[in-house]
Amino acid sequence: MKDDCIFCKIATGKIPSATVYEDSHFRVILDINPATKGHCLIIPKEHFDNVYDLDGETAGKLFSLATCIARAMRDALGCEGMNIVQNNGEIAGQTVLHFHLHLIPRYEGDGLQLTWKPNEVGEEELEEIRKAIRKEI
Ligand code: AMP
Ligand code: ZN
Repeated sequence: MKDDCIFCKIATGKIPSATVYEDSHFRVILDINPATKGHCLIIPKEHFDNVYDLDGETAGKLFSLATCIARAMRDALGCEGMNIVQNNGEIAGQTVLHFHLHLIPRYEGDGLQLTWKPNEVGEEELEEIRKAIRKEI
């Protein structure tokens, strides 16, 4: 628990939230400023700043829970698709520095823009990048 962290307070119930699910590891809430109707956040109760800090066991449990919540949202909301998004760092759009996973239901004509312009990359550069990442795994 980090004293000045709003999601620590929400996850542990110190600040009320629109909770759709809770267990000993996670709280799932409705986003207060939803991107679309039914936008949910999965928040671990333990504080992790971002994906780099998350341990494998929590990550496994988290994604398992995400599949369950996603199916429940699909059935309850009748959405036609779903984006699962997770931001790390200010440049990537992270505004709350406590790891969380966004589940964003998609509807025909919802106007949400989550796509990017595809870039060209040469074979050599791809290979260089592939090797650099592989070396660090
Ligand atoms: P991110 O930009 O990935 O860090 O996402 C933070 C998300 O938390 C945003 O979608 C906010 O709307 C949402 N949010 C911030 N404060 C609250 C709160 N008190 N209750 C519910 N959602 C919140
Ligand atoms: Zn926190």
